Amino acid sequence: MKVIRTIEELRAEIRNRRSKEASPVGLVPTMGYLHEGHASLMQRAREMTGTVVLSIFVNPIQFGPGEDFETYPRDEERDLAVAESNGVDIVFIPDVSEMYPQPTKTKVAVSELTSLLCGASRPGHFDGVTTVVNKLFNIVKPDFAFFGMKDAQQVAVIEQMVRDLNIDVEIVPCPIVREADGLALSSRNVYLKPEEREQALVLSKSLQTALEQLENGSVTTAGEVRTLLNNIISEAPIADIDYAEVLTFPELKPIDNETKVSDTGSAVILALAVRFGRTRLIDNVLFQLKEGISHV
Ligand code: AMP
Repeated sequence: MKVIRTIEELRAEIRNRRSKEASPVGLVPTMGYLHEGHASLMQRAREMTGTVVLSIFVNPIQFGPGEDFETYPRDEERDLAVAESNGVDIVFIPDVSEMYPQPTKTKVAVSELTSLLCGASRPGHFDGVTTVVNKLFNIVKPDFAFFGMKDAQQVAVIEQMVRDLNIDVEIVPCPIVREADGLALSSRNVYLKPEEREQALVLSKSLQTALEQLENGSVTTAGEVRTLLNNIISEAPIADIDYAEVLTFPELKPIDNETKVSDTGSAVILALAVRFGRTRLIDNVLFQLKEGISHV
């Protein structure tokens, strides 16, 4: 496994590998502090491509003022061990000064899809994401890029950007990896105090209960689902709900309260963002409701 810190060296290495073998190049963009969720992306990339590039970069321009850019957890040594054990070929770990030698005057911004959910509570966040992902695509020129459905809105936004700008890459969405008790893995879970960690289980519990009740018909409309999600999350006294939404996916159109979820005829996402103390967690479930639930 090669550890590369400069764009020039990375480009040379990828050119070299492409000249020797025709197999596709896969990119797994991350901010590091790697866990099993990231590992699942690396494993998928390993299965589908001949060269797996993992990028680790805590991207300053996707953090807002007062967010956790400075304190975001970092552990390079451990990350390299995780990458190696998951078959990564190249780890790209640039400094901020390598990616942004001067403040960028160019940003890539996707409209509409970024104005709600996390885009509403984190203004500018998705512009930072699409800009850095675009830079990584231009640097690596991957055939496939792997993203977790944990960040479902990010997947929708990046797929839109790829279509709109004719970027020659296939986006591969990968399922959410969870702890045994249901909590979705996240680098930010280390921030959680024991009591917050315990109460954070209402996220997956509310999603699971909503799915079950949609399936058995005890709730049918989007309004009933919103109420159910809010009620279950509110069982955790410290949970501070940012949003608990019911939308079509990947269009991210909120479904009217009166509309039956089964009448939308498209894939539906239940998406949550909830603060536990200083830590904001997100979770979601994506499904198609026709005759019963099918996961998509
Ligand atoms: P991050 O380092 O948090 O920016 O995440 C890098 C990539 O890993 C993103 O595509 C995330 O969606 C994905 N990811 C993070 N957590 C999970 C998880 N629990 N399951 C699957 N993918 C994840």
